[in-house]
Amino acid sequence: MSDIYNSSFKAFYGQKLLKSISKFRTKNSDSSSNCTVWKSGLDKDGYPILKKTFKLKRYNLRVQRLLYYLESPLEWLDPKFHVSHLCHNKQCLNLEHLSYEPAVVNSQRNTCVSEGRCFGHKPFRNCLLQASMRTTRNHFEQDERSIK
Ligand SMILES: [Zn+2]
Ligand SMILES: [Zn+2]
Repeated sequence: MSDIYNSSFKAFYGQKLLKSISKFRTKNSDSSSNCTVWKSGLDKDGYPILKKTFKLKRYNLRVQRLLYYLESPLEWLDPKFHVSHLCHNKQCLNLEHLSYEPAVVNSQRNTCVSEGRCFGHKPFRNCLLQASMRTTRNHFEQDERSIK
């Protein structure tokens, strides 16, 4: 599935997909979390999903990964890296709540949720738990710095 996150796909479908994503993306009205939630299909694990055919292959794309990729300056995504939710809301598509990071960092975040506080993930960003909601000004820049 990872092979779809490459520059030819981005160049071909990028703008079109961003448009269809924005149609199903709405701001959560009921909370202060600032999450932007998905109003369309979810996969069996509860993550927003978009079905797409590219070069005769069918893909079920996780929308947070797709959106992060299309909006970021990255040419491609490393299959070993997840696009994690800092806010732990699976349906959230607020770019400021998404972090591109190694899978192991993502799984560490599960501990934070169950303990109700963030133990820190340096050089990656902290979890956004209800008590510590904040926004980051340039998340892409921050993610790229973390990867280098
Ligand atoms: Zn969120
Ligand atoms: Zn954490």
